[in-house]
Amino acid sequence: MNVSSVLIAGGGMAGFQTASSLRELGYAGDITIVDASTAPPYDRPPLSKDYLLGSSTIEHLAFAKPEWYVEKNIALVLGSAITALDPDSGTVTLANGRDLCADVVVLALGGAARKLPLDTGTASNIHTLRTVEDANALHAAISVGTRLLIVGAGLIGAETASSAATLGATVTLVDPFEPPLVPVVGLDMARYLHAHHAGSGIRTIQGSLTQLIADDSGDYVAAVLESGERLDIDQILVGIGITPNTQLAVAAGLEVDNGVIVDSNHRTSHPRVFSTGDMARTRTADGELARRNEHWESARLSGTATARGILGLEPDHADSHWFWSDRAGIHLEVAGDMSAAAESVFRGSTQDDSFVLFRVNGSTLVAAASINDSMAVRAARRIIAAGTAVTAADLANPAVNLKKLTRGIAS
Ligand SMILES: Cc1cc2nc3c(=O)[nH]c(=O)nc-3n(C[C@H](O)[C@H](O)[C@H](O)COP(=O)(O)OP(=O)(O)OC[C@H]3O[C@@H](n4cnc5c(N)ncnc54)[C@H](O)[C@@H]3O)c2cc1C
Repeated sequence: MNVSSVLIAGGGMAGFQTASSLRELGYAGDITIVDASTAPPYDRPPLSKDYLLGSSTIEHLAFAKPEWYVEKNIALVLGSAITALDPDSGTVTLANGRDLCADVVVLALGGAARKLPLDTGTASNIHTLRTVEDANALHAAISVGTRLLIVGAGLIGAETASSAATLGATVTLVDPFEPPLVPVVGLDMARYLHAHHAGSGIRTIQGSLTQLIADDSGDYVAAVLESGERLDIDQILVGIGITPNTQLAVAAGLEVDNGVIVDSNHRTSHPRVFSTGDMARTRTADGELARRNEHWESARLSGTATARGILGLEPDHADSHWFWSDRAGIHLEVAGDMSAAAESVFRGSTQDDSFVLFRVNGSTLVAAASINDSMAVRAARRIIAAGTAVTAADLANPAVNLKKLTRGIAS
């Protein structure tokens, strides 16, 4: 197909990167990014970190300055959600009634924060955190002494707990799993991370909510746990994951299964429609459906792969399983699948909050998770990608230079 216009639905990391990569690859046709938000495309990770703390602004979050879009000839259509997609004609309909048409439509709509099933009322003091508006509302609701209940101690719940505690809130973090995050970071790292909350004065509780109690205004004043404990609260943040924004794709008849199904070039089941980022799920060459990624680097790489797919080029990177998270002075990085069957190999010092947990299967490094040691995970990513043989003894030995291990040299 000769592509002279591309409409990108969603200006998050994946949509922005698709547009940027199209230009880098020399595509000279029309590009339009459509986003429901009135803010120009912006980055989400700071929303639970610097931005929530008030030490960053929406201008800092923007992927590019306004003049970049002019220079790259990329049109922004902001402030109106897409409500329908007709894949055969490549037409999207906006909430304001406008129709936009292109040769190729890219669905990069991300996900929506899950709501708590118990939350059936009209409370104004229950929050989720996905957008800059969410972060503004949460920041405004937190002051010194605010009793903040966070439901879900995943990456965003834990980061927000740390930021809120820094702002002076009294934070309680409730999660049914003890420790949380085992499938994402492995058991040993999950234990370390969860124990770290106590140092920030954050109370952690293993459990689930059975009831939310509202006052006459409809706002929640207490939560009851399955243990029977009642927690008096001022604000609640629900951090129990996202659901991919697949409604438009479903209505348009695209193949969807916990994400829009795409091939390695990000083509959906309709030749005119691509999908990318958090909402897309890859069917691998052997027909398996891969796990859907919900991380920044994965969204960035999938945007580039989507641009290449639109231009008929094969992806130039394997999909990445790398992410980071920041909380209370510790920087976590993870590469690979920490839940894969493998042996754990430790290097560094938990007392100094600087260490790496490698996961090794025979002579194969399958994953690594580090605290305050980005260099180690950078080396691990190269070793994993190249399939360089390693030994547990070399990985554990702080005298062995990890950079050299990437070249198969132990000392
Ligand atoms: C608070 C927070 C902290 C995070 N921290 C980290 C981190 O530390 N490390 C990490 O690796 N990852 C982190 N992430 C995850 C990372 O930000 C996401 O993986 C990434 O943003 C996904 O990009 P995306 O483009 O697929 O989706 P999104 O960024 O969600 O973008 C989707 C866009 O689509 C728009 N949209 C949705 N529906 C419509 C519609 N109907 N019409 C028009 N526009 C629509 C939305 O407004 C949005 O701009 C964090 C995410 C959040 C929310």
